[in-house]
Amino acid sequence: MQTSTRNTVLLERSRTAVWHPCTQMKQHETLPIVPIARAQGCWLYDFDGSRYLDAVSSWWVNLFGHAEPRINAALTDQLQQLEHVMLAGFTHEPVVQLSERLSALTGGALGHCFYGSDGASATEIALKMSFHYWRNSGQPDKTEFISLAGSYHGETLGALSVTDVALFKDTYAPLLRRSTPMPSPDWRQADAGASPRDHALHCARALERHLEQHHTQTAALIIEPLVQGAAGMAMYDPEYLRQARALCDRYSVHLIADEIMTGFGRTGTFFAHEQAGITPDFLCLSKGITGGYLPLSAVLTRDRVYEAFYDDAVTRGFLHSHSYTGNALACRAALATLDIFEQDDVIVANRATAQRITAATQALAAHRRVRDFRCTGMIWAFEVTDADATFGRRFFEAALARELLLRPIGNTIYFMPPYVISNAEVALLATRTLEALEATK
Ligand SMILES: *Cc1c(COP(=O)(O)O)cnc(C)c1O
Repeated sequence: MQTSTRNTVLLERSRTAVWHPCTQMKQHETLPIVPIARAQGCWLYDFDGSRYLDAVSSWWVNLFGHAEPRINAALTDQLQQLEHVMLAGFTHEPVVQLSERLSALTGGALGHCFYGSDGASATEIALKMSFHYWRNSGQPDKTEFISLAGSYHGETLGALSVTDVALFKDTYAPLLRRSTPMPSPDWRQADAGASPRDHALHCARALERHLEQHHTQTAALIIEPLVQGAAGMAMYDPEYLRQARALCDRYSVHLIADEIMTGFGRTGTFFAHEQAGITPDFLCLSKGITGGYLPLSAVLTRDRVYEAFYDDAVTRGFLHSHSYTGNALACRAALATLDIFEQDDVIVANRATAQRITAATQALAAHRRVRDFRCTGMIWAFEVTDADATFGRRFFEAALARELLLRPIGNTIYFMPPYVISNAEVALLATRTLEALEATK
């Protein structure tokens, strides 16, 4: 078959048989689905040899790009030994090692690790554990959760209850638990003349007022540290996390750090919460955890929480489970990912990469249609001033025509590139983004 025919046939079969996520399928009458035949490094290739720079790390997961030789080798090796065994009543080397290493990355503060298969499940696990902890501790009235305006914690019903993105949430409102959004420390919302830190303190006072009144019913505050991703890369001052930690301590409320997007070096430190010098009570991880190879999520918590479930009574235990809990291949991919962080000194190397990207995007940042150009670690974002409702889709197509995979959130364009992006690829990203912007009026 002609390669271009293979492209066409595959995308047509996809439209017929696959229900794609986060998509009004009818839009694919005009917007083509992109067939991908293979991928290498930062590049995705179709059957024709057309290529796309994966500037969003395939929904924020492929930290080291595609086909990373060391992760490939680790998985090939693991396949010769054990692909999977149920984790209830059984254990294996990769899951034990991963739990030990993740705990060590929190300085040992979070001593136990529970596994799920995706980010939303990690949120569910943390919420259920928090509620169940308070119940086991004689405080069954603590049944409510609070989160930030513009938060995103996943799209299963529990996770959606603490998510505040109208497009994803409003349709399902009758199915969801009530949850009160706290003002977001997003510095774009600061009053004129107020610094990001001032704004963080201002929002922390609102959190304090809420907790003062409602702490006896509140189980946990769930929060995306430093960057609220799916809301459009809202960035904020670490002071908010310090304040939130202190308030949660004062009012006996758990702090759940959802680092599903911000973890694994994305914000410039291994975990984003490190930049505030705090430790959460629960830490949710997924996305980059396997370097983009296999679905896996983890919730780490304090031994004190673990101990509140340790009892003769079965129902005081945490009976939650997923079939693929602690899958050996996924854990092995995660171990290989952690190895790369050590071998390549990734956090330090990323600082130089981030400087190169910021330097290369000066013209873009100064563009007359660009507002609030911002960066945290290895995330860049900006808004387009004159964007209409269809801008995102049109920009996506204009970028694709210039070999770039960029997927705006509303009128926010962002870069979340693989950490291995080269100088030439950075240059291409910067110039082609400008061109795509010029082409999208
Ligand atoms: C992506 C994401 C989730 C949900 O993860 P899924 O694997 O898509 O279910 C939750 N929280 C944050 C902060 C995320 O970015």
